[in-house]
Amino acid sequence: MTTPLAPGATIGIIGGGQLGRMLSIAAAQLGYRCHIYAPEDTPCAADVAALHICADYTDESALRDFVRNVDVLTYEFENVPAEPLRAIADEAPLHPNVDALELAQDRLSEKDYVVGHGGRPADYRAVSSLADLETAIADIGTPAILKTRRFGYDGKGQVRIMDAGAATSAWTEIGGQPSVLESFVDFEKEFSILLARGTSGETRIWDAPQNRHADGILAHSIAPGDGIIGEQKAAAGDLARGIAEALDYVGVLTCEFFASAAGPVFNEMAPRVHNSGHWTIEGATTSQFENHIRAICGLPLGNTALTAARIEMHNLIGADADDWMSWLKKDRAHLHLYNKGEARPGRKMGHVTQLF
Ligand code: AMP
Repeated sequence: MTTPLAPGATIGIIGGGQLGRMLSIAAAQLGYRCHIYAPEDTPCAADVAALHICADYTDESALRDFVRNVDVLTYEFENVPAEPLRAIADEAPLHPNVDALELAQDRLSEKDYVVGHGGRPADYRAVSSLADLETAIADIGTPAILKTRRFGYDGKGQVRIMDAGAATSAWTEIGGQPSVLESFVDFEKEFSILLARGTSGETRIWDAPQNRHADGILAHSIAPGDGIIGEQKAAAGDLARGIAEALDYVGVLTCEFFASAAGPVFNEMAPRVHNSGHWTIEGATTSQFENHIRAICGLPLGNTALTAARIEMHNLIGADADDWMSWLKKDRAHLHLYNKGEARPGRKMGHVTQLF
């Protein structure tokens, strides 16, 4: 157990999106100040933080200056290059650690790691060329999904392959990047396991939400997930806990699963707080954001019990956010807007959590 970081200290957050914004709000409640490092001019996390440093993620010298002025460092999205973070590792503790970050940046390593820890992803093959892709399709069959190994999010960097004849067009569409071919999982529901692990190894898991996607983007999370999710969440939680322990992980870790007739199928992990855990702000005794801050500051973790029988989180994507007034008129609906400016299609502008 490391010495707890006393309130009044400064937390550095790499990334300036809504996750950083909600982390900053949770940190402020506990008496910490947050500094945001992000390349955008006006990242939405900077609205609620003490300082914003505008610099590129690869700028090691700017990153070093940034880290010298914080007491602990974390990140709010996983596409931050790992090398500059490794180079400044002596300046401040980084949670979750770089190994966890690197693992989650590569779909292939992530799946191999999960298999090594007793988990079961969809059948998959590494693909580095069109010839590999053709062999992989012959092995796995169709339908299948080709996903880039790196930099995929919200369904981006993915192509569905319905028959072997589509190999060439899929390879072109994905830009010929190192990829993974995955078999298409026949699942009943999707769910996620959100866990927080502290510096002492203490682990807390929230009840597993059911997640519904539209166009590859999370649309709704409903907690607690029922039916097949209730049956499979314990096994999925054990896997996530085992992975967190093996990585000596500190912070919130999210693992996404497909609930299938054959058991929970691991989809992917995120080494951070996650959209499918936004409901925990009002729907759990301690939110994912607060427990992440508690974990990285070496504090005891908070209780993760639900605060209502049923909780629904709806993402406000693009123009959905224009409806903000109607949400305010609903009883027990909690509106969160991220102040991101232009409501472009597909952009996460806010969310609403309803307690029932
Ligand atoms: P991902 O970015 O990998 O989480 O994929 C986004 C969404 O696409 C998932 O939440 C699923 O709804 C769907 N999807 C991804 N991979 C598969 C798969 N192997 N089988 C079936 N559906 C999938």
